[in-house]
Amino acid sequence: MTLRLGYEPSLSKHNAASIARISSTLLRYVVAVLSIGAAVLAAKASVSFLNTEPFVSLFLCSILFSAWFGGLGPGLLAIALAGLAFDYYLLPPIGSFVMGSKDAVRLIVFFVPALFVVGLTAAQRNVAITLQRSRRQLTVALEEQRKTEARLARSEMSLAEAQRLSQTGSFGWKVATGELIWSAETFRIFGYSPSVTPTLDLVVDRVHPADRALVQQNIERASSEQRDFDYEFRLLMPDRTEKRVRALAHAAKDAQGEFEFIGAVMDITAAKQTELELRQSEQRFRDFAETASDWFWETDRDHRLIRVSRESRIVREGIGVAPWEFAADREEEPEKWRDHFADLAARKPFREFRFRSVRDGGPTVHLSVSGKPVFDSTGEFLGYRGVASDITARMRGEQAEAALRSAQTDLAHAARVIALGELTTSIAHEVNQPLAAILSNAEACLRWLDRGPDHVGSARRSIEWIVKDVNRAAEVIGRVRSLARKTDTERKVFDINEVIKEVSLLLRRELAENRILFGLQLSPEQLTVRADRVQLQQVIMNLLMNGIEAMQSVSDRPREMEIRSQRNEAGDILVVVEDRGIGFSNENSERIFNAFFTTKPRGLGLGLSICRSILESHGGHLSAFRRSGPGSAFQFTLPLHQAE
Ligand code: ADP
Repeated sequence: MTLRLGYEPSLSKHNAASIARISSTLLRYVVAVLSIGAAVLAAKASVSFLNTEPFVSLFLCSILFSAWFGGLGPGLLAIALAGLAFDYYLLPPIGSFVMGSKDAVRLIVFFVPALFVVGLTAAQRNVAITLQRSRRQLTVALEEQRKTEARLARSEMSLAEAQRLSQTGSFGWKVATGELIWSAETFRIFGYSPSVTPTLDLVVDRVHPADRALVQQNIERASSEQRDFDYEFRLLMPDRTEKRVRALAHAAKDAQGEFEFIGAVMDITAAKQTELELRQSEQRFRDFAETASDWFWETDRDHRLIRVSRESRIVREGIGVAPWEFAADREEEPEKWRDHFADLAARKPFREFRFRSVRDGGPTVHLSVSGKPVFDSTGEFLGYRGVASDITARMRGEQAEAALRSAQTDLAHAARVIALGELTTSIAHEVNQPLAAILSNAEACLRWLDRGPDHVGSARRSIEWIVKDVNRAAEVIGRVRSLARKTDTERKVFDINEVIKEVSLLLRRELAENRILFGLQLSPEQLTVRADRVQLQQVIMNLLMNGIEAMQSVSDRPREMEIRSQRNEAGDILVVVEDRGIGFSNENSERIFNAFFTTKPRGLGLGLSICRSILESHGGHLSAFRRSGPGSAFQFTLPLHQAE
């Protein structure tokens, strides 16, 4: 079926062509027959109606027409038919092919010029047909040539465009004659106008002086050896810019058997620049990697170390093994490692994974490692890449810092206990007062009870006072205990005004005994902090105690002290403690914050330095000022706690 379908169109085409040819031939012969028929009719008409001799010229015309229209075959047919028709219809005896000798001679005389005319006309017709065919062929050939030229122009255009885009020009060089042929892009690369005739001298002129000798040598070698070449050199353009070019050519023989080079010249300035920048950037990163205190590392898909950026004993010996094989804490911290393995299995990145390693009895090294998985373009896992740092020194520092912190806490505690020791008398007094009140109220109560059941109400009131005084004493003891307790720092949210009030209460007696006029100006709004309450108590107590001590020797003016709390312009909490004591000298204004700096015979010189470190650890700051009048002012700031 398919085959039939395949052949049918070509068959029918072939058939149609032969049918057309047959019909055209048939038509030419039919026209010959018809034209002779027409001549017979005309001749008969002239004989019948005009009573003339039949016109032989009529038959000659028909023969001429048949030969002109149909060629030699129809022309000959027309001669034969004209002879027969003439004899049959027009020569006596009419209606018969019999003729006399005279008529036979006439007929022969008629045939000879007719044959001559037919031959001539047919030849002329053939020439006309051949000419027509040639013209048709010429038109087709011209059309074909036009198309080829258009295609050529298009391909030349795209070639020129491609050369411009790739900055690659082409050239031909006939060694024997020195003739050079350049493409437009080659002219552009060398910076010459396309109107000049390119020569080797022009090329050499353009070459950078530093490369000129080498290029000349290469040209000479190429022309003598006639072998393919590929060189790079620099050009120095008229505007003093430099270009880097690469010239490469293939040695071939032209149609005359002469040697010639067919080649290309590429402007590789941009590519070279990019390559240079890439190399510089690579070098830069290599320098970073080599001078960094961290290592850059890479593992394969089985997590074995395959590359490290720096020579180090720890990692050098680890090449080819997985990092956990030299970890010393896998048994101590199995959970940490389990999580890490889970991350690796899930191809997750990890940050600052810390572990301890020991190599061949060497010292313990603490490492902190971060890494990210690497995948190829198809998404297949290739391994991990990342950074590792030796944090041994940092770990030791952290341990030392923790020890220092604990020593500081101990010291602060000791300072508090000492301060409390100094307050013993006033605290004893403070507790004594409620105790004395309790005693007198208890005695009064007993007396009311003795007086009988009617006085139970009064006895009850006495007991209520006892309860109040017990609470007062308990509060004092509670405050002392909280200060004396050695607690771990614990930050809570509270109003700093409460702490100021608490400490002021604790020092009430001390202030009174030293005849100090004490003013408390607390902000009406709450000043909430997130802090360690005991530590802030210690700060406020220290500042107040220092103020009291600074006024102990003052007798010529009123002893006044004030503590104020408010919010400053920055929105932070500001607490100021001001006294009218002896003050401090200008030169001591910073030294007073140094540990162990004291001007007091029994002083430790620790109070202010502890206060400053407590406040700084809370994000605050402590400073001291000399007042314009006598005395000094100490103030500290703390960030206000914003409720979330
Ligand atoms: P100490 O009270 O044991 O000397 P501090 O660190 O509390 O330790 O104080 C250090 C020094 O700062 C004091 O010896 C004193 O000279 C000075 N100083 C502290 N507070 C005041 C103050 N209110 N007025 C004057 N000088 C002060």
